[in-house]
Amino acid sequence: TIKLAARVQAVKPSATLAITARAKALRAAGKDVIGLGAGEPDFDTPDHIKTAAIAAIQAGFTKYTAVDGTTELKQAVIDKFKRENGLEYAQDQILVSCGGKQSFFNLAQALLDPGDEVVIPAPYWVSYPDMVLLASGAPVLIHAGAEQSFKITPAQLKGALNEKSRLFVINSPSNPTGMAYRRDELEALGEVLRDYPKVVIATDDMYEHIRWSSTPFVNILNVCPDLAPRTLVLNGVSKAYSMTGWRIGYAGGPAEIIKAMKKVQSQSTSNPTSISQVAAQAALEGPQECIGVMRTAFHERHDFVVERLNQIPGIDCLPTDGTFYVFPRVQGLIERLPGVGNDLELAEYLIEQAGVAIVPGSAFGLNGYMRISIATSRANLEQALERIAKLAG
Ligand code: PLP
Repeated sequence: TIKLAARVQAVKPSATLAITARAKALRAAGKDVIGLGAGEPDFDTPDHIKTAAIAAIQAGFTKYTAVDGTTELKQAVIDKFKRENGLEYAQDQILVSCGGKQSFFNLAQALLDPGDEVVIPAPYWVSYPDMVLLASGAPVLIHAGAEQSFKITPAQLKGALNEKSRLFVINSPSNPTGMAYRRDELEALGEVLRDYPKVVIATDDMYEHIRWSSTPFVNILNVCPDLAPRTLVLNGVSKAYSMTGWRIGYAGGPAEIIKAMKKVQSQSTSNPTSISQVAAQAALEGPQECIGVMRTAFHERHDFVVERLNQIPGIDCLPTDGTFYVFPRVQGLIERLPGVGNDLELAEYLIEQAGVAIVPGSAFGLNGYMRISIATSRANLEQALERIAKLAG
């Protein structure tokens, strides 16, 4: 056997991608499996975006670009931050990467020395802790269950920070919980962070546009502008414009950190795909109606799913603020089902006995829950919940 690096052995492959692959394999084997594991919108990329990409290919825009993205796309990102978030950035404060995932990967590589601590609220997006481990950092998790609407308190944040803390990650609205921090909650977290000036803050705003509330989106930097010299804003086109396969994410932040992240990227992938950059520019600069169409569909499905889940014995589901996930507590269901002792076994049981693929909560750092993706048709959702209800009795 080949000896692999310790850093690889320390991380797990993405659990969400594994469930999706498992559902696909069962389906290929002829089994009727409804996939509620998807981490991507079930809509097509809007036509005007595809058209821009096709034109780019035909015009020969198929070569290397600047590592950090074309000037035109970076300007579109700058304009987006200004228009939608009230944030001002210069060209040297923006880095375009191969998805939001690479943005965070670059950040972890640029910032962390062995043993440096990264404070991550749990439940978390599956990739944060593993990308921290790949950078030899140490994830420090703060647990926030349904009883606190999956949001950490200022006291918990204070308890997790110390002189080894290098980075704090906040994702709002959250994958997997769908919860968003309110302005006053962000203000209170910012107040704690003011006492730890060496801590860099990463706000992951990937689900900014998938929100039900009519109040404007806010992140911690909007509420605490004094944190700007050490705050990175991470975002991308994957979820807002249904462009997951194009692989474009971007970061805005202090020039010094952006420059270090760019250096990491220059020695790994170089620039993100030239064609995708043109597509992302069309997404950011073009008509924005497509966002509202998807948001409305997700909202309607959300209302249906939350109500239906709460009718099933052993399941308690909070309504969310946004995203295309819900994160019900399923401890009661686990206790009702024969041979099922935890949420991992529940996921196994549901895929085998009901033909429904979900991701267990423990994949996101919280046992006794499951993540249901509503990025699938209403008919699929109805059928899947019917099957789960039948099992629950
Ligand atoms: N951040 C969060 C919270 C996510 O859920 C995802 C995707 O699942 C990403 C970032 C990265 O998305 P992408 O790499 O497709 O841009």
